[in-house]
Amino acid sequence: MSKPIRKKCRTCGKMATNPYVYHIVPSRNPWNIPNYVKNAPRTDRVDLKGDLKVTVYNYCNQECEGNDYRQ
Ligand SMILES: [Zn+2]
Repeated sequence: MSKPIRKKCRTCGKMATNPYVYHIVPSRNPWNIPNYVKNAPRTDRVDLKGDLKVTVYNYCNQECEGNDYRQ
């Protein structure tokens, strides 16, 4: 069921096979602090439900993820 996927690494720009996926899922708490979900299950598309927007970043690996400041 797992097809290899290739995504461009946000940090170094290389094409990563089976990239390290980093999701930022907004929460509905009153402080508006996003939840950080690492290695969440991959989805084919990002669902936009109301004002809930999930941001997905792709990296080669965890090391590249750590080198990205996501600004
Ligand atoms: Zn990389």
